[in-house]
Amino acid sequence: MALTVKKAAAEIFPRLGLKVHNRGVFAGEWLGSGPAIEKHSPIDGSLLGEVTTATPGEYDRAAAAAQRAFLAWREVPAPKRGEVVRRLGLALRAHQKDLGRLVTLETGKILAEGEGEVQEMIDICDLATGQSRQLFGRTIATERPGHRMMEQWHPLGVVGIISAFNFPVAVWAWNSALAAVCGDATLWKPSEKTPLTAVACVKLAERVCRECGVDPAIFSLVCGDGAAVGELLAADHRVPLVSATGSTRMGRRVGEVVAKRFGRTLLELGGNNALIVTHSADLKLAVRAILFGAVGTAGQRCTSTRRVLVHESVTLKLTKGLLDGYRQVSIGNPLDAGTLMGPLIDVAAVENFTNAIDAARKHGGRILTGGKRLTGPAYASGLYVSPCIIEAENYWSIVQHETFAPILYLMTYRTLDEALALQNSVPQGLSSSIFTTDLREAEAFLAARGSDCGLANVNLGTSGAEIGGAFGGEKETGGGRESGSDAWKAYMRRQTSVVNFSKDLPLAQGITFGS
Ligand code: NAD
Repeated sequence: MALTVKKAAAEIFPRLGLKVHNRGVFAGEWLGSGPAIEKHSPIDGSLLGEVTTATPGEYDRAAAAAQRAFLAWREVPAPKRGEVVRRLGLALRAHQKDLGRLVTLETGKILAEGEGEVQEMIDICDLATGQSRQLFGRTIATERPGHRMMEQWHPLGVVGIISAFNFPVAVWAWNSALAAVCGDATLWKPSEKTPLTAVACVKLAERVCRECGVDPAIFSLVCGDGAAVGELLAADHRVPLVSATGSTRMGRRVGEVVAKRFGRTLLELGGNNALIVTHSADLKLAVRAILFGAVGTAGQRCTSTRRVLVHESVTLKLTKGLLDGYRQVSIGNPLDAGTLMGPLIDVAAVENFTNAIDAARKHGGRILTGGKRLTGPAYASGLYVSPCIIEAENYWSIVQHETFAPILYLMTYRTLDEALALQNSVPQGLSSSIFTTDLREAEAFLAARGSDCGLANVNLGTSGAEIGGAFGGEKETGGGRESGSDAWKAYMRRQTSVVNFSKDLPLAQGITFGS
């Protein structure tokens, strides 16, 4: 028997420091007197709680507090900053179940994914803690005798974080854990669709900072919508880097506003991810990967599998496997351990889903399964749909766009070159996969002429990235890289320095000037 939303919320709210009415601005103290966001759970439509938003004056106070906190924080030795982040990781471990459940209540993700998202936060805290001892530059050979040339990495300033609803806590952690060890303060504007998880995260961070004797405004928060609060953040000269995760439409706007003031952006935008199934593929594996990629998180991941390109020789077998798999997907209350797919986030998402299916139909698309809005007492919020597979053509305008819902377009191909051309012929470039047991095909996919995406996998799906690698995509996905590898460099200011320890003043390029 699944837990009810009300009961789950009543249990976890006190442990996460949440109430029915919450303040949504953190500037070292809790503020927020702008209009309240009423957050209803997509699971059953019930009211979870309210979060107030930032007025322009309160936005200003939060940005000033973050700026003030930065000036002190940048002086703290990086490994000591790492210790604060390590403790944040411990606090997250202690609250993993509760926070994971709150993610489920607020987004409709199944419990395993809610907790998995908190695990990502823990993992990035571990990575950032280690990174805090490795913020190193290089020493570079210089052409001048008696000189030394080196690169240093300094803290950058206040990092603005704009996040999407579908990873309401992980994206904040990816950015703020790294930014914190890099000596930056963060100013977070979460999605207006997930304000409660944001307040819960910042409350945890606040407690950790106070225990460590650190100004908690290094983790500042401004709740509000994109037009009111997001725009203030994008235009703010005090914020040298804006890391924005969301739709391409949002990224285009934020990118322009920040570029106009010569700020930097780190953009993590929409994907339109394809998975190629070749004639030699292990079809059982491919079916499982497609199922998780297309149906997991109700198709609301930036890395969700949206297009399958299947070799004509295995189309029938793969289609049969997928239809069998789709039949077994249990759709319903995500608090129930047996559920694989919960609701979409809101009414607009359901409309996008049905409109996309209508558009594909008009193009001549054949629906193989799903595509319906589900009704009945178990689906009372009106946000449940059946995941859909459509036979489609890659050039259709609807296929060229990301619809943030469980719709999978199925297409066939004859040669690998054709498959690669189809895979790359969309405006987005986030994630991609190939299923093959042929070494040549796998390597061709990974070669320069292969996938043009930021993520390219062989024999695993398009979604479910680990934090150790740099995460992000090309083209309209925005070009940003977050998380592991050397992504930390985006949060720092690079400085090249030359020291002359000779008694002469030789100029570069052998130039002589005067005597
Ligand atoms: P969205 O673009 O509607 O909103 C994202 C965030 O941008 C929200 O916080 C919103 O308030 C803010 N925003 C909107 N307009 C703004 C403006 N003018 N100025 C400043 N901020 C503004 O996206 P969403 O519906 O919350 O999330 C789904 C989208 O996010 C999908 O396109 C998905 O692919 C993408 N996404 C990408 C990644 C990635 O890493 N590439 C990860 C998660 C989600």
